[in-house]
Formats: sequence, C-alpha cells, structure tokens
Amino acid sequence: MTSADIAIVGLGPVGAVLANLLGCLGLRVDVFERDLSPYALPRAVHFDDEVMRVFQAVGLAEEVAAGTHVSPGTLFVDGGGRVMLDWSRRMEEGPQGWHESYRFHQPTLEGVLRAGLARFAHVRVRLGHEVGDPEALEARYVVGCDGARSGVRAAIGGGSEDLGFHERWLVIDLLLKRPRPDLGDYTRQFCDPVRPATYVRTTGNRRRWEIRVEEGEGDNAGTVWRLLAPWIGPEDAEIERAVIYTFHATVARRWRRGRLFIAGDAAHQTPPFMGQGMCAGIRDAANLAWKLAAVLRGGAPEALLDSYASERIPHVRDYVELAVRMGRLLNATGTEDMVSAAAARGESTDRMESIRPRLGPGLHRGGGPLAGRPGPQPRLADGRRLDDAAGPGPVLLLREPAAVESCGVPAVAAGAEWLGAHGLAAALLRPDRYVFGVAATLDEAASLCETYAAETGRADA
Ligand SMILES: Cc1cc2nc3c(=O)[nH]c(=O)nc-3n(C[C@H](O)[C@H](O)[C@H](O)COP(=O)(O)OP(=O)(O)OC[C@H]3O[C@@H](n4cnc5c(N)ncnc54)[C@H](O)[C@@H]3O)c2cc1C
Repeated sequence: MTSADIAIVGLGPVGAVLANLLGCLGLRVDVFERDLSPYALPRAVHFDDEVMRVFQAVGLAEEVAAGTHVSPGTLFVDGGGRVMLDWSRRMEEGPQGWHESYRFHQPTLEGVLRAGLARFAHVRVRLGHEVGDPEALEARYVVGCDGARSGVRAAIGGGSEDLGFHERWLVIDLLLKRPRPDLGDYTRQFCDPVRPATYVRTTGNRRRWEIRVEEGEGDNAGTVWRLLAPWIGPEDAEIERAVIYTFHATVARRWRRGRLFIAGDAAHQTPPFMGQGMCAGIRDAANLAWKLAAVLRGGAPEALLDSYASERIPHVRDYVELAVRMGRLLNATGTEDMVSAAAARGESTDRMESIRPRLGPGLHRGGGPLAGRPGPQPRLADGRRLDDAAGPGPVLLLREPAAVESCGVPAVAAGAEWLGAHGLAAALLRPDRYVFGVAATLDEAASLCETYAAETGRADA
C-alpha cells in the first residue's frame, strides 16, 4: 500500500469511528495508537440515537446494541428526594430510527469498533506507535483523535476557549454481588451543594457513581465506601474501578490548520452531566468523514473542509454550555432559575427535552428550523430503516413517489409523516444525515439537488 489518504492519531472511540467511516468509504487510512489495548478506566456510559445511527452507518449497530441497555432517562433530585427536573426519554424507537438513550461499557464498545476495522484491507492499525510530530506523517490529511492532551491540537495552535468548569469528581464502577432493583433504571443526579453526585445504571451488574470530591480526598477504598454509604455498601457490591477526574469545559479555537484536523476530546472537553463528550466526538467524525471523501475522491473543492469547524464548533459549544449549567444545578440545589434555564423546552420548568442544536454556518441552506439539524430516519414499507436502504451518500426524501431531476442524488419516498407535518414536498439529507435543505415543491427539490451537487462536487462519491 502506498502512503495513506488519511492518518489518524489515536484509536479511542472517536478515532475508531472515523477509521470505520473512512474504511466504509474506501479511503486508505493509517491509524497510530500509542497504547496496545483500549483505555480500561471508567469513562463514558451513555450515547444517544444519533450516535447509534453512526454505528449503523458503519455496519456495527447490531453488534453495538447487543452490549447496551436502553435507558428511561435522567432525574435531577434534591436532598429531600424531590424530582426537580425530569429528563425522561421515550422507550420506543424515536425519529432517528433508534432509542434516544443507551447505557454501555466503553471498553466493550471500543472492542467492537476495533474489530470492525479488520474488515478493511485499506485501513492499517499500528498499535504501540506514539506519534511525535504529526506534520511528519505521510498522508494527504492528518486527523488528531488523540484525546484531551492532543499533540495535534498543539501543532495546529490557537489554544482553547475555557467555558468555566473545573471540578474534581470521583468516578466509581461497582459490580453488584446481588440484585438491587431499588436503585432503579433512571440515572439520578443528586443536587446537593455539599456533595453533588450521579448514579447510573449501566450494563449487566455494573453500576456507576460519580461524586464530587474536595482537594485531599482520594480514591482509596475507605473513601469510596464512605461516600457511597447513602446508597450501597461492600456487602452488596465490589469496586471494579475508582478514579478521580478533574472535569473541564473547553472548546479548541482552531480545528484545522492546512492538512491537520482535530476531532473528539482533542477538540472539546465537557463535564459528563449530559453524557455527550464521546457523542460529540462521534458527530465530529461523521461530519468530517464524508467531506474528506468528497474532496479526495469526489472532486469537491478543498474549501468544503472548512465547513467542518464552522459547523461543529457552535454545535458542540451548545452541548458543553448546557452541561456546565447542569453542573451548576447539581451544585446549587433549589435554584429554580437554573432548572428553567436548563429545560430546553417543555410544558413546565421541571421537564427537560434532549436538545438538537443546529450546526453552525456551513453546508446547509435555508433559514427554516430544519436545515442543519438531524434529518429523520423513517422505516420503509418493507421494514428497513432509511439509511440501510439509501446507502452512504446523500438522499432526497420525497413525500410521495415522483420523478425529480436530482443530479444523481438517490430519491426515496419515505418520511411522509415528517415532511407532511412541516408542509414539505422533500428534504435533502447529507451523507451524515443532517438536513442540507428542504423544499415545498418538486421544482424546489430539483434546484436544491443542483445546489448540493455544485457545492460538493457530488459529495457522496
Ligand atoms: C467520568 C467520565 C464520564 C463520561 N461519560 C460520558 C458519557 O456518558 N457519554 C459520552 O458521550 N461521553 C462521556 N465521557 C467522555 C468520553 O469518555 C470521551 O469524550 C471520549 O472517551 C473521548 O474519546 P476520544 O477518542 O476523543 O479520546 P480518547 O478516548 O482519550 O482517545 C485518545 C487516544 O489517543 C491516543 N493518543 C494520544 N496521543 C497519542 C499519540 N501522540 N500517538 C498515538 N496515540 C495517541 C491515546 O492513547 C488514546 O487511545 C465521559 C468522560 C468521563 C471522564
């Protein structure tokens, strides 16, 4: 194999998803990872429906789903056990074609993603290889998925914006020795200015607690059991892992310099209260992968790659800022202002809905509420999910079967309910399934396809 199209630095979840996406698109990829096996300490426990859709795109959804538990959501409770904010998720399949909230075990997920790479002869993984100078890598583009201390971010320069959150939290994974159904399936955020804490029912007999700790408090077994005493003791569970993290909220100012890019924790870090750090990184990968393919294989202009940062930075900032507000809520019980500020939408201030922020300016057209947000994934009449039927490129959703001059974009009559609810005849979804634009008539749909093709050089190639 000659030199790669893309070199990826770091095989955490974001590097692994990016490598799978690029592998599916037929690009030649070299992945460099300093460690020999996935990071073993407890980190992410939740991902959402959009992320499952990305796993679907790389053909691994069923395998990933087998290791997950569908979650009913999160409750924010005060010291007296009163529910201050209810962030329940629906338990049935949602508009993205998947459940809204999954609990999972990160090392297991990373194992599935790494095994997925074995399908591609054109993706080479080099474990135990630490990259010193990313500029020296032989590849057309280099993507740093090299985590919070990213060397690629340092090479790009520009620093990071600090969104103002720095707290030490003890993160504990327990293995139950006997069933404790009373702990419940809901994630619970205990809002307590003295000792804010989070409980998460993860997969199998694993249970997660995250508890804020003071300077000087450590992660030894004595401290762990003392802090867990309100909920559980050593007679019911054993400690699998316990570690202290300092949570930060930052977004890098520059995500690209020339042929260098960053994605995932290299580009942003968030307190985990929304369960969105890895999710945001996987959205980065999904946004960047098809654009790299479009430029390298489809004749799209290089400038298309600038839309990666312009779209992703405002989007991830929305999540990080909301996570910071959640963190303040956890630290400040009874602050009703914060409850209402945190509730993105809903009939009353104590109900919260998942946010679906809009991408920043880039490759989407139209000022309406839909462009730049995730498009739906309806089931087709034969039961298949849209993306399985449409394949990896863009797709034109039509309210009714019709012949449209679509510049080579495949058209599928699906999503009539969603299109009808918005009074639309069609919507063009990009390869990452964000809405490029919508059309009230078939003529508008044809011109939308024309614009898309002109700007992407047929970006599905
Ligand atoms: C307590 C906690 C709870 C969390 N909960 C959630 C959650 O519920 N949901 C969620 O979405 N996110 C959550 N997160 C965040 C999530 O874990 C991270 O966002 C995610 O792991 C980042 O993935 P990544 O691939 O960007 O980086 P990493 O997983 O850090 O991977 C980076 C990789 O790059 C490698 N590397 C670094 N430098 C080099 C080099 N020079 N050469 C070669 N390799 C290199 C490293 O060895 C590493 O394997 C949580 C985080 C914490 C700490």
